[in-house]
Amino acid sequence: MIKQKKQGSLIIISGTTCAGKGTVVKELLKRNENLGLSISYTSRAMREGEKNGVEYFFVTQEEFEEKIKNGDFLEYANVQYGKYYGTPKKEVREMLELGKDVILEIDVKGAQQVKEMFPETILIFIMAPSMEEVKRRIKARGKENNEQIIKRFQVAYQEINEITKYNYVVVNDEVKNAVQKIEAILISEKCRVDRIEEIAVENQEEIIHEFLMDKDFDNSTLYDKLK
Ligand code: 5GP
Repeated sequence: MIKQKKQGSLIIISGTTCAGKGTVVKELLKRNENLGLSISYTSRAMREGEKNGVEYFFVTQEEFEEKIKNGDFLEYANVQYGKYYGTPKKEVREMLELGKDVILEIDVKGAQQVKEMFPETILIFIMAPSMEEVKRRIKARGKENNEQIIKRFQVAYQEINEITKYNYVVVNDEVKNAVQKIEAILISEKCRVDRIEEIAVENQEEIIHEFLMDKDFDNSTLYDKLK
């Protein structure tokens, strides 16, 4: 009776530095076949252990700017240290048309751009349990110098101020809990009435007639009730 939109949903997952969003997203993808991840383009340098086409498509600044000119991005931003990050339009469109729900793991600025274009986008903000925990995780990672760490903290505080622009906030105390919360959000979102495309009200008289004519059904008292 109810026909829902076949097209997938756009889901934005942002989060403060070291909130563990990468791990949460990986787990979500592992557990949910219908979820797809948009792989962004970036002009930042590849880090140790990263692979082109896995974490990002790594391009030069010139190549990125060429793509901006060609209108290849759904959104893009100059996120950190003057480096570009952008979401490819074509790949996202193709996944949505296949009925997949697509996760964009992007920053607050990019999230706002997408929300303006597609107001039905689901915006989720992942937070570490505390800034103390963030400090611990950054130290444990030990990949950056002090200047970079300070910059990360500044961006994190700015992003926390933007949290009200999101629909949901999920504290990542434990990956399993955070994943469960996000799955619950996605299930609820599928039940939203604004995802209903059509409500077909069948011909009630015909249905009653068929019911009354059904040989297996003792309808002697029903006739009386319907009179
Ligand atoms: P990282 O360099 O640590 O991988 O990512 C830095 C930041 O860039 C993160 O906050 C991440 O969410 C954001 N980011 C990654 N891809 C995109 C993108 O396509 N667009 C935007 N706006 N931000 C992105």
